[in-house]
Amino acid sequence: MQKFIPFIKQKFHKIIDRLFAAQCLICALSSNNKLICRYCQATLVQERACCQRCGLALNKSSLFCGNCLQQVHLFTQLHALGSYQKPYSVLIKKLKYSKQLIYGELLGELLTESIQLNFSPLQISAIDYLLPVPLHPHKHRHRGFNQSEIIARVTAKKLSIPLLLDNIKRHVNTAPQEGLSLHKRKKNVKEAFSIENSLQHKIAGSYIVIVDDVVTTGATVNSLCHTLLAAGVQRIDVWCVCRTSSTVRK
Ligand SMILES: [Zn+2]
Ligand SMILES: [Zn+2]
Repeated sequence: MQKFIPFIKQKFHKIIDRLFAAQCLICALSSNNKLICRYCQATLVQERACCQRCGLALNKSSLFCGNCLQQVHLFTQLHALGSYQKPYSVLIKKLKYSKQLIYGELLGELLTESIQLNFSPLQISAIDYLLPVPLHPHKHRHRGFNQSEIIARVTAKKLSIPLLLDNIKRHVNTAPQEGLSLHKRKKNVKEAFSIENSLQHKIAGSYIVIVDDVVTTGATVNSLCHTLLAAGVQRIDVWCVCRTSSTVRK
């Protein structure tokens, strides 16, 4: 009887695996033990027509949006997996507000696939660090985790790029900025983030990619860029799950 117990346990685990782990997180069809099935994967990771600088969705005939013709961003290029709409918005809400961390894993995997679709291995190898946008300490305590960090950890591991996690602090929640005077906005942007001296030597002259879940006005990433450029960082790009010009949470 003793030797049958491991056998029964093994069979039991296989049945459980078949019932749950092999289901696509989105459509519940068989996923061959991956988080989502290949059909959902193909739908979610696609080339998109967007501004070549800031990633805003555009019609196919334009290369840049009106804002980027006026050079309003401090980063060189933003790449987004998609626009803020279903199903991306649903996946982000499940991560941030329902605290289902498995969706962070999934979004990290999808963002990585999208990066590998749009950038060559040579371009990716030029990047020195990935930096998830730090959360304000109050928000971090309230939520219990930083969603950008969860996404960035997956991408950093898959692409073998070191992560910057400590020594950059957030003092001000930069968004929303609506309703603030221009003076207060500029002050917020300048003082939103700070970098400890020990890190300044490490990142001077480097190429950093900021990772965020949703970029809307760009206020937060631009204020982080402001601090990084002042510390001597040479080039900054942004990778995010969703890019949108609208603050409406559908
Ligand atoms: Zn599916
Ligand atoms: Zn643009």
